[in-house]
Amino acid sequence: MKETADAPAANAGAYDRPNARFDWEGQLEVRASAATSCRRALWYAATGHEPAPPDDAALTVLETGRALEPVVLRAMQREGWEVAPADATRPTGVVLQLTPMVKVTGHPDATGTPPLFGEESVIEVKTRGPSAFKRWQTLGAERSHPDSVAQAALYTYGLFGEARDAVIAVMDTAERTWDHEVIPAERVERALERTRDWLTPLGAHYASHGADPEALPDRDFEAGSWRCNSCPFLATCLPGDAEEDAETLQTEEPEVSDEEARAAVVAYVAAREALREPEGAKRQALDTLKAWMRRQGSAKAELADHTVSLVRSTRYAVDHKRLNALLDAETRKEIVTEQTSDSVRVN
Ligand code: SF4
Repeated sequence: MKETADAPAANAGAYDRPNARFDWEGQLEVRASAATSCRRALWYAATGHEPAPPDDAALTVLETGRALEPVVLRAMQREGWEVAPADATRPTGVVLQLTPMVKVTGHPDATGTPPLFGEESVIEVKTRGPSAFKRWQTLGAERSHPDSVAQAALYTYGLFGEARDAVIAVMDTAERTWDHEVIPAERVERALERTRDWLTPLGAHYASHGADPEALPDRDFEAGSWRCNSCPFLATCLPGDAEEDAETLQTEEPEVSDEEARAAVVAYVAAREALREPEGAKRQALDTLKAWMRRQGSAKAELADHTVSLVRSTRYAVDHKRLNALLDAETRKEIVTEQTSDSVRVN
């Protein structure tokens, strides 16, 4: 099931292949990093539709991620991990025959073993902004970044030919801190099976239509989803829907002029400044009273015509890392739920 291949020298383009293409054996070859992408987008890539080039901001994010990979691996080494990073100029490629018609290929970032003991595992390095980093720590990679887990699973089978624990190492790009999560072998196996289930219909589509650029698979995502909004084939796939969606969004929101928005910022900053001083004075007074109450050794006292109470509250913390290691993603979903809301912050 697995083959490994040393990439040719001068392999600057090793990471820049299209997400899918037809190889010389007539197989559909999909990049491991895109294996759980929209199957219609993979079809567009394989059949030669031109993707929109990434804009400058997206390129900067991509290059930042690549530049920080060795930083994360060195940080792991300093903490006692045995790490074998990929050679940037001659990365070891893996090729995995996932379905009869679909091969997955890619280049693992590194392999390594944890401090003291352990089996050699694939290490998949990611960089995230602070909120995505926090979300990953809380929910675990299978829920927050299932694509990364699928990628690590594909590399694990491609390199070792079996399920093994896989390591996702993530750096918070704002704080420059890193953390890791071990995905146990049985969950690596399930991630591989999910990826196989995802790509099997695409292989069947290829078997029945051949490499026909006009025979498109169904869309996996809907206009307005983040997947479609960041898809390089959006203009080809959903030209009308995407514009319509943006228009609908605009008409649903109340109309606010730029002038009104500027006035709102000024009003917000003035209100915040007006609150700052009394809030500071309140905090200082409460700190004084807390120290006094503790010295008194009493929880309640009458003072200057007021009742002052020392209220003790207990906070409970969840060790998400241990929770994520113990429970699979489906069980975690029932325990750690997620709510999203929009708010505005003015700095
Ligand atoms: S625009 Fe959306 S549905 Fe169309 S190919 Fe891209 S991700 Fe898939």
